[in-house]
Amino acid sequence: MPAHQRILLKLSGEALMGDDSFGINPATIGRIVEEIAEVVRLGVQVAVVIGGGNIFRGVAGGAVGMERATADYMGMLATVMNALALGDALGRSGLKARVMSAINIDQVVEPYVRPKALQYLEEGKVVVFAAGTGNPFFTTDTAAALRGAEIGAEIVLKATKVDGVYSADPKKDPHAVRYQSISFDEAMARQLQVMDATAFALCRDQNLPVRVFSIFKPGALRRVVQGEDEGTLVHV
Ligand code: UDP
Repeated sequence: MPAHQRILLKLSGEALMGDDSFGINPATIGRIVEEIAEVVRLGVQVAVVIGGGNIFRGVAGGAVGMERATADYMGMLATVMNALALGDALGRSGLKARVMSAINIDQVVEPYVRPKALQYLEEGKVVVFAAGTGNPFFTTDTAAALRGAEIGAEIVLKATKVDGVYSADPKKDPHAVRYQSISFDEAMARQLQVMDATAFALCRDQNLPVRVFSIFKPGALRRVVQGEDEGTLVHV
């Protein structure tokens, strides 16, 4: 029996890049799909929020003089491209998947409607949430916190390249240690980067725990949903 019945998996756009410097790497997306399939087979309901940083980030547009809101809409469209690629790969692997967008582009992706998303999850379909929150000045981390709370996910699983939250940057400091678990308040006091401040506050206020783990460690997602020690649990 898995420890979690319904999860919200946050995948950054960069997770889809693999070793490339831009875009979507098919082999990498295939590996992520295999990890997701493993937990779907355990009977876990899986919702995914996907980022867009492998294609475009609003801050990058802002940095070259674009209006920030316009650049953010471009960033949200980038997440739609990633969501389509992930939905396609999930479908080809034999899973049932649905992509839902926070911005209406009906010919491309069905709109996000909460009761429909809940129905899909109950039917065992993987639901991929595209276009973040639908609003500029937010991030897909905040979309993960928001959708996680809306669908009643028991936990937000933030998939990163690093296998948890460390006391210092493990690439720079050999004495850095991984926290097994840490409270939101302590993470904030120690200025540990878990999520951006808006996402962090929403998870804390909604008592929605977050586990930071590496999606590239084979079997890590399965171990997480089975409640094993993997990554770092951030809790109230
Ligand atoms: N974005 C936004 N509102 C949202 C979510 C995302 O405006 O609710 C834009 C923002 O410009 C962001 C980009 O979409 O830079 C891609 O999302 P994010 O940077 O969170 O992706 P990740 O870092 O996870 O790849």
